[in-house]
Amino acid sequence: MEQTFIMIKPDGVQRGLVGEIISRFEKKGFTLKGLKLLTVEQSFAEKHYEDLATKPFFSGLVEYIISGPVVAMIWEGKGVVATGRKIIGATNPSASEPGTIRGDFAIHVGRNVIHGSDSVESATKEIGLWFPEGPTNWQSSLHQWIYE
Ligand code: GDP
Ligand code: MG
Repeated sequence: MEQTFIMIKPDGVQRGLVGEIISRFEKKGFTLKGLKLLTVEQSFAEKHYEDLATKPFFSGLVEYIISGPVVAMIWEGKGVVATGRKIIGATNPSASEPGTIRGDFAIHVGRNVIHGSDSVESATKEIGLWFPEGPTNWQSSLHQWIYE
């Protein structure tokens, strides 16, 4: 089954949005396979965002991500990478639809509350970086009520 890496950024944690965000993924029917609250170091944040290293906002982005604890999660389910991105909404909250997390809870692109992997390939890479111990192995008893 497909997995994605979702991270509630420091602004999401500070603003008390952890429960709300987890609830949206739970209610959709996705399964939580990894969860931790941690503060990362500069080199780790740079590694996570290495594809953006040449962008003008890169150093500000790294400062933002290391500014406080983040909630790192693995979510599992059919199509969870693409659907997770839809639940999160467009990168710039000014373009995020109402009903998405960024559309409902963010205003500025530099404080957009949450990260989600953009492809199955990135998800595998990010899960490997953030969860070297791997996902927690369990099966939800709701499976038959969510999948035909
Ligand atoms: P995402 O996959 O939707 O998170 O977007 P990207 O991978 O393109 O960018 C990663 C993160 O960098 C975004 O979530 C924003 O926090 C930040 N970011 C992207 N574009 C900009 C920008 O133009 N200005 C600033 N300040 N931050 C940006
Ligand atoms: Mg991205």
